[in-house]
Amino acid sequence: MAEVARFFSRVVAGPGRQDCWLWTGAIGDDGYGRFAIRRDGRLRMVRPPRYALAVAADGAALDGYVRALHECDVPMCVRVITADELRDGVRPHVVGGTQRENMERMARARRGGGSPAVIARQAGVKARREQALALRAAVRSGWDGAAVEAALLGGQPRLW
Ligand SMILES: [Zn+2]
Repeated sequence: MAEVARFFSRVVAGPGRQDCWLWTGAIGDDGYGRFAIRRDGRLRMVRPPRYALAVAADGAALDGYVRALHECDVPMCVRVITADELRDGVRPHVVGGTQRENMERMARARRGGGSPAVIARQAGVKARREQALALRAAVRSGWDGAAVEAALLGGQPRLW
């Protein structure tokens, strides 16, 4: 479907097995991504992680109320892992609100603790938007691991 292809043309996937897939399209004033779709002749803006969930669920999730939650704590991430990947030890990224409890339990068993991204999430809208813009710039010419890391750490004082 052309719309899905258009969506993924704005996504840069990290090369690593556990990496985020970052949205590189429009970013709103709230620091969240924006993706424009047309439904019943009307233009509609959706958040990219929610759209990614809908694609993973064959479109079903877009019309119901489904919150996209980030287990990876990176609001620009749109990666939805498959059940097979989860079984193979890939950490969850974007999950639907209803799945959260199960996912959290499984993720907690694998996750090490406070990541730089967790700190960034707590810093509010301004920081979120700055991080979003920095991440988009970091993958503009393909995934640049050092630049992505720097964007995730952005604004936080270094401790060493
Ligand atoms: Zn992610």
